[in-house]
Amino acid sequence: MRVAIVGGGAIGCATALALVERNVDVVVLERSVPGAEASSAAAGILGAQVELHERADGALFVSARDAWREWAVALREASGIDVGWRRSGVLRAAWTDEEREALRNEVAWQSERGMRAELIDGQRARQVEPQLATSAIAAAYFPDDAQVDPPSVLRALTAILGRSQRVTVRCGTTVRKLLVSGGRCVGVELAEGELRADATVLAAGSWSSLVDGVPAALPVVRPVRGQIVLLEEHPVRVQTIVFGRERYVVPRGDGRVLCGSTTEYVGFRKEVTAGGVHSILAGALACVPSLEGAQLTGTWSNFRPHVAGDRALVGTSPLPGLLLATGHYRNGILLAKATADAVAKAVFEEFTG
Ligand SMILES: Cc1cc2nc3c(=O)[nH]c(=O)nc-3n(C[C@H](O)[C@H](O)[C@H](O)COP(=O)(O)OP(=O)(O)OC[C@H]3O[C@@H](n4cnc5c(N)ncnc54)[C@H](O)[C@@H]3O)c2cc1C
Repeated sequence: MRVAIVGGGAIGCATALALVERNVDVVVLERSVPGAEASSAAAGILGAQVELHERADGALFVSARDAWREWAVALREASGIDVGWRRSGVLRAAWTDEEREALRNEVAWQSERGMRAELIDGQRARQVEPQLATSAIAAAYFPDDAQVDPPSVLRALTAILGRSQRVTVRCGTTVRKLLVSGGRCVGVELAEGELRADATVLAAGSWSSLVDGVPAALPVVRPVRGQIVLLEEHPVRVQTIVFGRERYVVPRGDGRVLCGSTTEYVGFRKEVTAGGVHSILAGALACVPSLEGAQLTGTWSNFRPHVAGDRALVGTSPLPGLLLATGHYRNGILLAKATADAVAKAVFEEFTG
């Protein structure tokens, strides 16, 4: 069986690996290089609980996060690359009574469902993270939320795929359209010609709806720009991920601190803007004032693939032979392995009925 995967981001590469592990031949078709877009731009927060907001599919988020620990070890053993998994925990800070009450409800909702979550006062929150602003009056503490370093994840995935006899990763290869014959997707059309496949996986992130032949009945995937500012602090002080009002601070533990992010509906404009950097830094410094003297060493932006209703498109589609692995919005790194396993299962079900 041969599967074509459109897109070599975290989702496409993880799906390729899941299929190879099940002895399937795979071709990854990437118009640039693997990880060229959202997947290397992500902050890498495995924020199952801080991102939960009483979602009905919360159990998937939590199990995806918990499975990451073992996957990070497997990726390191197979590639020799450490993907930076750390259970650094997350504090979501509150500055007003209203914010504290909202956190109290969230924590109660999660605790009732067996997740570790705690509402702590400002003093206790500063014991967890001494760099937290003294103006924060309380915080929700999610000790099990974790992080990885997304560029390292992509490096590990591509190293493993590169060694497999079953995978071909074709860089600089744009999929122009899906090939449909007899009401079934039978592969893709490239500039170089047709590529036939028993199944095709759509993993083109924010560009998924732009591939010709994608069924019109599918929800549209839209880009939502997020900007990131990278700081370096010496000596290393911040250890815990801190969320404030729409902005967050992600310490890598080695002095690098990612500050993010904006949520902008600006199409595919990949600028880093003065307003974006200004508001990210203002939000980050409100959370962790001691970052004021940190060196600003980088900025970037990319596009979260968003589907209305915040539900990723994973599994079968209205077009037989076409499987979906897209629309992961803010949580594609968190959900990469869970998605890959679900899609691999769907590929087999498609052929075994
Ligand atoms: C600033 C920012 C911060 C984020 N932080 C987090 C976080 O902390 N935690 C988390 O879990 N998620 C986070 N995300 C979300 C996460 O990055 C995405 O959900 C995830 O990377 C999506 O992966 P993907 O493989 O679907 O898409 P992408 O990584 O965008 O990959 C899609 C690939 O498809 C290729 N492609 C597109 N069209 C074609 C075509 N026609 N032919 C061939 N190739 C094609 C592209 O070149 C691209 O490489 C963040 C995103 C952003 C932008």
